[in-house]
Amino acid sequence: MKLTSSISGVAALLAACLPVLCLAQTPADAVRSYIEAARAFAGADHAFVFGRLCETPIKAVNAAPVTDEVPGALPVIDAAREWYAEPAKVFDDLFFLGQTAFSVWGLRTSEGIILVDAIFDYSVEAEVVDGLRKLGIDPSEIRYVIISHAHADHSGGAAFLQKLGARIVMSEVDWELYESSNDTEKATRDIVATDGFTITLGGANVKTYLTPGHTHGTLSTLLPVHDNGVPHLAAIWGGTLFNFRDAPDDPRDLRLRDYAQSAVHFQAITAIAGADVLLSNHTAYDGTTVKLPLLQQRQAGSPHPYVIGQDAVNRYLKVAESCAIAARIAEASGL
Ligand SMILES: [Zn+2]
Repeated sequence: MKLTSSISGVAALLAACLPVLCLAQTPADAVRSYIEAARAFAGADHAFVFGRLCETPIKAVNAAPVTDEVPGALPVIDAAREWYAEPAKVFDDLFFLGQTAFSVWGLRTSEGIILVDAIFDYSVEAEVVDGLRKLGIDPSEIRYVIISHAHADHSGGAAFLQKLGARIVMSEVDWELYESSNDTEKATRDIVATDGFTITLGGANVKTYLTPGHTHGTLSTLLPVHDNGVPHLAAIWGGTLFNFRDAPDDPRDLRLRDYAQSAVHFQAITAIAGADVLLSNHTAYDGTTVKLPLLQQRQAGSPHPYVIGQDAVNRYLKVAESCAIAARIAEASGL
């Protein structure tokens, strides 16, 4: 009697389709779930990067869109060179040396400067070399240039900086990509970075990690910085948008798989290391367009706009991971 009622109970439950038993969700449902997870991780502070990364899957399943308006803008101070941005001190030992839309980060140690990225061939001298001089720093202090990935907006100035005596750092795969493109004068092959590669200079340890996705050899970086002597750790996600143009024959599904796995890899790296500052090589993604002007007006003792905390760094990378999975499911299921 008991058994019968128990069986009929299970049958009733199955008929009602308990959520735990309803695993046959459609690919579109799955895409929507990852989009909404990404939206929640993004919150207000990472809304722009969420909008750009989840744009394709959002369109594929008609999910609620998000603003694609770039937050803020760095002032244009030279009408003839609209790309030109003023150099700025961001931390005691970290300098912004980029353009209005593309970043170069310079970490100054007692034994020299490590740059992350080299922007374009046309802008590197004005922004990096003249920028350092404007800040009262001798550009001959530049020792290393870590190239996040071998696209011309980040590597175009590498040959110029190598001629000044800097060592150029790229992953093996992106050295190959860099050497195979013919858009700019090239630096000769120099340092090959591996996962966990460390540059120690003036007591600072700068580490690079292999995070394939945007390119096959994208490097993400950890930089130790100080705010009025207080140590912080900056994480730079080396390639942001999903990109298929360097290897158009690669299955897109696998590129997106790599991207999502790299985001998980860097989530662990940043969590273990305690990264509490998030930087990008594009000024829109890390909010430099808003934060740099804010920093100029910062009052003594008030919070540093770039110090967002470990949770917010993790959420940024969760947005990257979740949008990559949403895009992968949409791609693989033909949505
Ligand atoms: Zn790129």
